[in-house]
Amino acid sequence: MTMRTVYVNGDYLPENEAKISIFDRGFLMADGVYEVTSVLDGKLIDFDGHAKRLARSLDELDMPHPAVLPNLLEVHRELVRLNGIEEGMIYLQITRGAPDDRDFAFPDPEATTPTVVLFTQNKPGLADNPVAQKGIKVISIEDQRWARRDIKTVQLLYPSMGKMMAKAAGADDAWMVEDGAVTEGTSNNAYIVKGNTIITRNLGNEILHGITRAAVLRFAREAQMQVEERSFTIAEAQEADEAFITSASTFVMPVVEIDGAKIGTGTPGSIAGRLREIYLEESRKAGI
Ligand code: PMP
Repeated sequence: MTMRTVYVNGDYLPENEAKISIFDRGFLMADGVYEVTSVLDGKLIDFDGHAKRLARSLDELDMPHPAVLPNLLEVHRELVRLNGIEEGMIYLQITRGAPDDRDFAFPDPEATTPTVVLFTQNKPGLADNPVAQKGIKVISIEDQRWARRDIKTVQLLYPSMGKMMAKAAGADDAWMVEDGAVTEGTSNNAYIVKGNTIITRNLGNEILHGITRAAVLRFAREAQMQVEERSFTIAEAQEADEAFITSASTFVMPVVEIDGAKIGTGTPGSIAGRLREIYLEESRKAGI
């Protein structure tokens, strides 16, 4: 990969010159939050939604807002420009910063400023992803994450383990299950389709409030599809006509198999396909 220009605490630097303290609480305690915003045609998709969720994540953790927060759009755009990104993602992370020593108590916010890091991920062909033509296979695993999944923290060890469990089983991803109901995918929201009805877990502390989820449900309702926000089981999903996931980097991605059982005909469903098209078309129009 060519050398990227990244953003660290106000500076634009070559990636190999970017430095963070070993006392940074993101490193020591996973005391940090993040956002991933996709780029299509060199423009940011759903930027406002990601910025709003970021502010909420900070507030839920009593983390001070870094001074750069009101200018994050400009920083994103500058990184897109400096790295020549046409399609890909911008990763942003904010941690509570680096106090003088390791301590469980939060540092004095007057004395410790948050750490802000952004970098680009160049992904030509992100929208034309051939995987969307054949769909993905998922397995189910127990949801063993902490209970505040509505906050987008960098504690991603269990989701990372879930991806490895999926890989070991010959699948692409895992859907997590709690008290018998699907919460979400390791890095995406989960959906099933019955007839003309799209079913996805209702919002709460149990799942991340996906920015792509909000947009896709809005487009679905505008297209006269029925939407039910409620829990569902793996057994119900295996009996569904279609299944899919959404996230900023996969948009709408069909799921064709769950724990070895084919969904519908075992090929991507027409509603998932249509929602993917609508999402990409509308997002391109609204990109900033
Ligand atoms: N759930 C989880 C656990 C995630 O990590 C993500 C993506 N970061 C999502 C859902 C999808 O959220 P978004 O559409 O905002 O990318």
